[in-house]
Amino acid sequence: MTNIISSSNLGYPRIGENREWKKTLEAFWSSTISEDTFLKQMKNYRLNYLKKQKDLDIDYIPVGDFSYYDHVLDTATMFGLVPKRFEYSGGPVSLTTYFAMARGNEHAHACEMTKWFDTNYHYIVPEIDNNQTPMLVENKPLQAFLEAKNELNMIGKPVILGPFTFLKLSKGFKQDEFATILNRLVPIYIQILQELETAGASLVQIDEPALVTDMTKEEMKLFSTAYETITSQVLGLDLILQTYFESVTHYEELIQIPVKGIGLDFVFGKEENLTSILTYGFPKDKILGAGIIDGRNIWKSDLNVTLDLVRKLNDYVPFERQILQPSSSLIHVPVSLKHETQLEPLVKNALAFCLEKLEELKLLKEVVRTPTPAKMHELSLHHQTYNELATSKWRKEKSQTHLPNQRTLPFIQRQNLQQKKWNLPLLPTTTIGSFPQTKEIRQTRAKWRKGELTNEEYDIQIKEEIKKWVAIQEEIDLDVFVHGEFERTDMVEFFGEKLAGFTFSKNGWVQSYGSRCVKPPIIYGNVSFLEAMTIKETLYAQSLTNKPVKGMLTGPVTILNWSFVRNDIPNEEVAFQIAEALLNEVQLLEDAGITMIQVDEPALREGLPLKQRKHEAYLNWAVKAFRTTTSAVADSTQIHTHMCYCDFDEIIDSIYDLDADVISIETSRSHAELISAFETTVYNKGIGLGVYDIHSPRIPSEQEMLLTIERALSVLSPSLFWVNPDCGLKTRTEVETIAALKNMVKAAKKARALT
Ligand code: GLN
Ligand code: ZN
Repeated sequence: MTNIISSSNLGYPRIGENREWKKTLEAFWSSTISEDTFLKQMKNYRLNYLKKQKDLDIDYIPVGDFSYYDHVLDTATMFGLVPKRFEYSGGPVSLTTYFAMARGNEHAHACEMTKWFDTNYHYIVPEIDNNQTPMLVENKPLQAFLEAKNELNMIGKPVILGPFTFLKLSKGFKQDEFATILNRLVPIYIQILQELETAGASLVQIDEPALVTDMTKEEMKLFSTAYETITSQVLGLDLILQTYFESVTHYEELIQIPVKGIGLDFVFGKEENLTSILTYGFPKDKILGAGIIDGRNIWKSDLNVTLDLVRKLNDYVPFERQILQPSSSLIHVPVSLKHETQLEPLVKNALAFCLEKLEELKLLKEVVRTPTPAKMHELSLHHQTYNELATSKWRKEKSQTHLPNQRTLPFIQRQNLQQKKWNLPLLPTTTIGSFPQTKEIRQTRAKWRKGELTNEEYDIQIKEEIKKWVAIQEEIDLDVFVHGEFERTDMVEFFGEKLAGFTFSKNGWVQSYGSRCVKPPIIYGNVSFLEAMTIKETLYAQSLTNKPVKGMLTGPVTILNWSFVRNDIPNEEVAFQIAEALLNEVQLLEDAGITMIQVDEPALREGLPLKQRKHEAYLNWAVKAFRTTTSAVADSTQIHTHMCYCDFDEIIDSIYDLDADVISIETSRSHAELISAFETTVYNKGIGLGVYDIHSPRIPSEQEMLLTIERALSVLSPSLFWVNPDCGLKTRTEVETIAALKNMVKAAKKARALT
């Protein structure tokens, strides 16, 4: 018996197996290679990626998912939507303008960049003002389709970002203009699709992940109308409306839309999407894109469970109308496990990067089509390796200890005790933690890692750096010092390397934004504390000065959100394991006499679920995890936290609930908006609003920082207010840092005198 089920991919990682894409991109930006060479190399990668997918027997291979920077930027420039400041005069957007929009140039600042839904991928925010009329200046999906057809004789599946989501991600227009602009986009999509149809395309994937967000009924109506118009004009082409990252919000309305297929996520939205199908059925004339392999995490699938799911779906959508696919584009996972020669075999066997995920799809398809004994054997082998880690000692069920998550005294009383202890001046000055990471420091760390420096030699060099910066902080006359974080490559990796349950790939890179890639740590087992992580450096710094030195840790939620996390237990549980491990460090610091301790949580906002109704549950455990790490200390111990720029409004109550004695936040880019969120009436705990932007080499003057402080003091009480830069200073030079901090301290002293 043969069940005709097919397979598809939604997007392939553009960075390539060895980040070759990144290297080519950066070589072009630095003029090391010509435009011609750049285009040729990129084309090579593109075709190569298609061939790899073909070798893995994927039936519907995506084309047009490749990009020189970002697919949202590709879509905007395809419509000629270039902000005025880039002096664009029509026609296909040149590479120079394209990259200027992404990165800025001497005359114009770059377009804003922000997170793609709840992932760590960042897209370029399209700017549409009412005077701009979107036009099709270049049919990019068509070019990609023709390239695959001509060069590889392949009928690819063009991938296009849909008009509704595109507009939802854009800015520059008023909300009441949304429908009008959407209506302007519709004919453009029709044109793109008609041209694809003429060129011989048969199936097109239109990504509309906005369908999983909290869309209103009215929005859904707009959506449906737009697609009714599109489908009525494009008859010879099968459109698949693709969703991912969550369950769709208006399933009932969605299945009424006369498109050929709908793609649903059965990993992240599994239960709800399934319930929708069970409740409302699935139309007999539609194809179901079944997203059954996790497109965002790096673990092997339990294919037995997946197979059960596919069979269950078969009751509602027969195999011949099912397409097996990853839950989302695979740009969120690294390319290949092939290069991981140093991973513990048990862990490596449990992993699946992009290519291994596509292999899983292949196996699954074969098993559904013709379950020969050989295939069934392969499946059971797959399951066996999957199970090895699952049943290993690393993942042995760990009972959760109930740790306190409440400080003994309320903030007001703690503040009193702490003030008595340190007697800090009004508007105390401090920094966020890191000081410049020079080339020398990075080399020192690299040499030590390679074994070219002994531990003793390494320690001496790190100590020298700490000593130098303690002296600098004395000279600048800051009130609260830091040791400078010279021993840390990255604020998550550093702790991951010292805790049990973490491991690190050699080549597990994923694109974060543009050419920037990140290599998230892998949390494969139970996390626990092994040894002191920060005591040595902190104590050394403290031994050199009478000023308080803050202990400096990364918080449990940030460590979790910036890692690939095991998926056999809820994230919440992992967060508490990390929290408990960090609590050990907090106690060691406190025992050693370090009683001002900062626990950074810049990624707290990032983990917020896409659906509003899930926010509360997330924020509850996230706050609890932070408090588990920070609550067991004496009331006279001062807990600081830090958050980088984010939309604080939405989470202000939770930030308050963290119950930190002092929070420092990044605000200098949007002062007015943020201060209001933290007005004394709402937020009556210690707060440091960043008084200067550390992302720019510009040295802010004393006068301008004084103004910023005064503005803040108009809504915040001076007894709560701290003066600090926006974020850590590791990317700045020594000269910039010293000059800026000197001005900052002078401004604080003036402000003190004035209050
Ligand atoms: N303590 C860290 C630093 O100063 C905080 C970095 C961050 O918030 N991203 O670098
Ligand atoms: Zn920060």
